[in-house]
Amino acid sequence: MSEVENVIIVGSGPAGYTAALYTARANLNPLVIEGFAWGGLLQQTTDVENYPGFPAGIMGPEMMMKFREQAERFGARLLTEQADRVELSEEVGGVHSVWVGDTEHRARTVVLAMGAEHKKLGVEGEDTLAGRGISYCATCDAAFFKDVPTIIVGGGDSAMEEAIFLSKFASKVMIVHRRAEFRASKIMLERAREQENIEFLTPYRVERFVAGDSGALGHAELVDTETGETREVLASGTFVAIGHEPQSELVRGQIDVDENGYVITDGRSTRTNRPGVFGAGDLVDHTYRQAVTAAGSGCQAALDAEWYLRDTPGVPVPDAMPIGDPATAQWAPAADPA
Ligand code: NAP
Repeated sequence: MSEVENVIIVGSGPAGYTAALYTARANLNPLVIEGFAWGGLLQQTTDVENYPGFPAGIMGPEMMMKFREQAERFGARLLTEQADRVELSEEVGGVHSVWVGDTEHRARTVVLAMGAEHKKLGVEGEDTLAGRGISYCATCDAAFFKDVPTIIVGGGDSAMEEAIFLSKFASKVMIVHRRAEFRASKIMLERAREQENIEFLTPYRVERFVAGDSGALGHAELVDTETGETREVLASGTFVAIGHEPQSELVRGQIDVDENGYVITDGRSTRTNRPGVFGAGDLVDHTYRQAVTAAGSGCQAALDAEWYLRDTPGVPVPDAMPIGDPATAQWAPAADPA
């Protein structure tokens, strides 16, 4: 049986690596199960211009490399594998288990930071043509659509960002959105409108995607959401940019999630319904979803985990950690009868 770790961090976006950095610096020797596609959604972005401290901007993958290196520098141990199953204790001071394949890793605290994934439209042809014309990441795949007509589905900042990027490659980008109003910020919308080869098709929803002769995407069938009229739009590529879904499957049934699957945390803290289990980043946050806010909540989760280990009666204080003063304890266990 494996040793009981102080903290296991599941996930490796800005939240996971920040939690790793803080817990490593608190001498907690964290184990990070970072997944094969470590770095999270920022691996699929180009320029990040809104992360403070990088006045000239930084590429998403490079930023995640730096986050990772910084956590490693202070001793975080990284396991580039997927967490397959968890068993989270209901007891204060209980031991939680996380399985990677057949290997069980045990810990007093767990930080959940699995992030979010791209949402799907759920229409006919979407799954069968995925990778054959349909993609969820223009930054990754735009170069495959040089000088051909393309579609972006969605009306938020992601859709605008993807459309602007794609417009540098494709002959034409049609932004298909189900309403005439856009959720995107004014500045992003204006930037998209400035591009000569970006066209707006509203209010339309995608009814189905249809393959062409080659077997790859040939056209999309759209329905006018006001009149019900249909139209066919020729496109070799379609990028779906309609938001994200939290990656909470691993913990469902054990950790409370809201109606959209986001992990629920207690007030301003990162505490979940299981003692010693904390949630951070896009897994928890459906409002802000920024790299900087995810990193901030990863820091909060690390401090919550640290305080839990230090201050919870019945939890052995890790050797490397100073003994807490109960008068200043930050974490009051919910199960404390007093
Ligand atoms: P979002 O703001 O939630 O927008 C999602 C868009 O997809 C909405 O226009 C929505 O339509 C549409 N949509 C959702 N489900 C749909 C469905 N089933 N069928 C058709 N359309 C559907 O998501 P986001 O654009 O990914 O942005 C998320 C957050 O990240 C936002 O806070 C955004 O500001 C931020 N972000 C910022 C930047 C940047 O500043 N550079 C870039 C990307 C993202 P309705 O409007 O009709 O609901």
